[in-house]
Formats: sequence, C-alpha cells, structure tokens
Amino acid sequence: MMVAMTADATREQIQAVVARIENVGLHAKEIPGEFTTAVAAFGDAALLRELGLEGMMGVERVVPIGVPYKLASSQLNHYHPTSFSVGERVIGPDTFFVIAGPCTVESPEQTIEIAEAVAQAGAAALRGGAYKPRTSPFAFQGLGAEGLDILALARERTGLPVVTELVSVRYAEQVAAVADVIQIGARNMQNYALLQVAGEIGLPVLLKRGLSSTLEELLMAADYILKEGNERVILCERGIRTFETAMRFTLDLGAVPWLKAHTHLPVIVDPSHAAGRRDLVMPLSRAAAAVGADGIIVEVASSPEEALCDGPQHLHTIDFPEYVQAISAHAALVGRALA
Ligand code: PEP
Ligand code: MN
Repeated sequence: MMVAMTADATREQIQAVVARIENVGLHAKEIPGEFTTAVAAFGDAALLRELGLEGMMGVERVVPIGVPYKLASSQLNHYHPTSFSVGERVIGPDTFFVIAGPCTVESPEQTIEIAEAVAQAGAAALRGGAYKPRTSPFAFQGLGAEGLDILALARERTGLPVVTELVSVRYAEQVAAVADVIQIGARNMQNYALLQVAGEIGLPVLLKRGLSSTLEELLMAADYILKEGNERVILCERGIRTFETAMRFTLDLGAVPWLKAHTHLPVIVDPSHAAGRRDLVMPLSRAAAAVGADGIIVEVASSPEEALCDGPQHLHTIDFPEYVQAISAHAALVGRALA
C-alpha cells in the first residue's frame, strides 16, 4: 500500500512511518514527489492494516496498490516515466535509444569494426555477448572474460557504453567491471537470485521478457531488481512463444503501450531475436518506434554470414545508417529524437 504524506509532513514524521513499517519486518520505500512524499509499504496486507498508519502525524491517506507488481507500478512514481543517462545519452520519454552490435563478441577485429560502424551511424550503446545463454550446452558459449576485455577495448575506441549479459551470479564481478548496462536475458528473467545480484550491482539493468512470461511476471521480475534500490531498469520485449512458428518468436507490440500504461520504467524492443530473419527487422523496428518504445536493441554485423550465433537476423553494417534514419523518422512522429 501507499502512504501519502501531507505537503507539510516533516522528515521526522516520514521517518516514523518508515520505522513503524520496518519494525514489524515489512519493507518500506520512501518515494519523494514534486510536492509531497509517499511511503510505499510492502508485505502482509492484514499486518499493514493493523499498523494504523492513517492515524500517524503527517499522514494524509493510505491507498492500497491493487497490482501484484509494486515497485514497477507507475502508481509508485506518481505516473512520471523514468529517464536516466547511459553514457552520455538519455533513455526516457523524449528520446529513442538505439543499442546495436553483434550477438556475440567473437574477436577484437569483428567487435571493433562493428562498434565503429554503429557509433558512426548514431547508435547510443554497443551490445555484444561475452557470456552467452545457449539452448544447447554444446553450442559456442561465448569468449567469456576475453570477450569482456574486447568490449572494454571497443568502448575505449568508440566511446559507446557497453550492454552485455550476465548469465550467472558467478560472473557478477567480472561483468560489472566492464558493463555500463547489465543485460538479463529472456531465459533468466525468472532467475531470482540473479535478479537480486543485478539489483545489488547498481548498474542500469536491461531486463528481457521471458519466452513465455506474462507482462505481470515481467514487472514482478523487475521488482526484484528495484527492491535492491536499483531504479535504473529497462524492460525489453523480445518476442514470445505462441502457436505461430513462421517467425522465431511472436513480437508482442501491444506489450509496449500496455507497459507504458502500467509502469514508469523505459521499454525497448528487440526485433532481431523476435524475427529471427534480417528482412523483418526493419519493419518491426519501425513499428516499435511508432508504438511508443523508448528504444531498440538490434543485432548488426559486418559479415553476418560468418557469425557464430544468430547470423541470419543480423543487419549488415553497410545498411545500418539507413536503418537508423528510417526508425528515427518513425520515432519523430511520436515526438522522440534519437538519443
Ligand atoms: C541476446 O540479446 O543476446 C539474447 C540472447 O537474447 P534473448 O535473451 O532475448 O534470447
Ligand atoms: Mn543473438
């Protein structure tokens, strides 16, 4: 539930509310607003009701949050969309944030060539997996620590912040030392121990929707990260499993406006893993921009035919500048400028 404080509530009165909630072992979070502060209280609703918070000094009213996700709910941020910087660019309601790069870091030459091309074309961040979550344990699992070194080098060369995946708590320190944004892959969306660690690291987190997860489950997964005090969470729609098998996954574009209505967190789209094929990436990206996404994460390579992972869905670097122009035009139609 949400405890709305009066406009003239004192610091001591706010702290007293937080303390009363925490004293019974429940979780409290202070949410400063433009004019008033609210205190969100989580946990056993019956116990919360017994606390008599509405009678405390400085409390205006107590409002239940009627959704299973709490911290990710837009109610908690006074319905203001969140925005924050990644590197020098901002992700939020006024911009369109483009993350581009290879599926997997394969060599310094491959990664730096792609990084330079996407930087030149206007990408805001570089993507690339050093540790890869592969469906088969016999498939290439990524270069690991060597891949992270290559990403650090690519950032040094291009200035682009690095988005890379954390597949296990075991690699948390290594990945945190290089990443500017920690990616949690679709397969790990409900790996709660991993989400908690990603929250504790404190870097922005790109949380991908699970292959068969509902949007409520996605927002509850985001709550795990937010609960650690990490507010910089980016949600990503990347296609879900449906009866349709023509494409790799079914891109759920309706997820974007639904999420916008229910959470303050930024929402981006991954057209590459949804489509599984290059020729669909441009139309799906245009649609993502038009439907109000805050950005896109897209796979790009100089020689996709040689890629060790997901080659058929990578855009060619030579086509990328035109791609960025086209999606920027769609983003502009909904009032966004390229980040
Ligand atoms: C990726 O972005 O590299 C990836 C593996 O995507 P997903 O987790 O969405 O399958
Ligand atoms: Mn991939």
